[in-house]
Amino acid sequence: MSDYCGRFAPSPTGDLHLGSLVAALASYAEAKKQQGRWLLRIEDIDMPRTEAGADQRIIDALAQFGFVWDGDIRYQSQHISEYQAALEQLKQQDRVYPCACKRKPLRRYNEAKQLPLGLYPGFCRHARIDTDKPHSWRIKVPQIPLTFQDSLCGAQTENLSQSCGDFILKRTDKLFSYQLAVVVDDAAQAVTDIIRGQDLLDSTNRQQHIQQCLEIPEPRYAHIPLVKDNRGRKLSKQNHAPALDLTKPTLCLWQALDYLRQSPPESLKTASLDTIWQWLWQHWDINKCKT
Ligand code: GLU
Repeated sequence: MSDYCGRFAPSPTGDLHLGSLVAALASYAEAKKQQGRWLLRIEDIDMPRTEAGADQRIIDALAQFGFVWDGDIRYQSQHISEYQAALEQLKQQDRVYPCACKRKPLRRYNEAKQLPLGLYPGFCRHARIDTDKPHSWRIKVPQIPLTFQDSLCGAQTENLSQSCGDFILKRTDKLFSYQLAVVVDDAAQAVTDIIRGQDLLDSTNRQQHIQQCLEIPEPRYAHIPLVKDNRGRKLSKQNHAPALDLTKPTLCLWQALDYLRQSPPESLKTASLDTIWQWLWQHWDINKCKT
């Protein structure tokens, strides 16, 4: 075994669809090719979006496809104290501040000033906020650009102070943000390599900033092309992505391999699950996913 550690981290907001199967397959195939570990994490931090029972349906579907994960499944909802500890560390370092701004007035301000809608103008950075009243916590971002090297998409540079500004780590409703939770989890689980969809490419510099503030190692990244519907939209529950036909697991894996540009032979469409996995172990090449 190498020290390579990959993971698949679905949000239990609905059933596994082709887009999530593609992310699971790419991360799994690469971890196994590198003789590493592959972990499964259920990202149920955003409780209002979580659908009861979806976690188990995702887990069952993965098992039915033949995925085998290492160790226990981690549930974000069971690690809230770790996210709080990370926030406390950032408070001690004066990296975060409470914010009392509300969404609507912020949007009106940005519209009037013709600023990008997602850019926080920093109003509370130097304000005195009464923390007995509802507030979120934001992390200060640097004025200089950050860069990471994506093994499929190349160098990715973003000046967070121009794109999003100080961003939220803990929301007014006291839920931790995906950005903080994912960084804490990947570090806690010693994940070395993150393979996921390109919809998360523009979250990565924010995650890199949190990693640097918390002084935790930055994993390697590969963002794979997104599976789109016939109107060019990312497959997701919001876009009513069709559920996978679990009665035809080989065909689903074939489609996932096809999206990942692995050129699986047509004859595999009707082969046994064993045969398609055997083919994959011999032919998997992540570089074919390069855009
Ligand atoms: N939970 C996220 C999703 O389902 C993935 C997070 C990640 O891979 O970093 O889109």
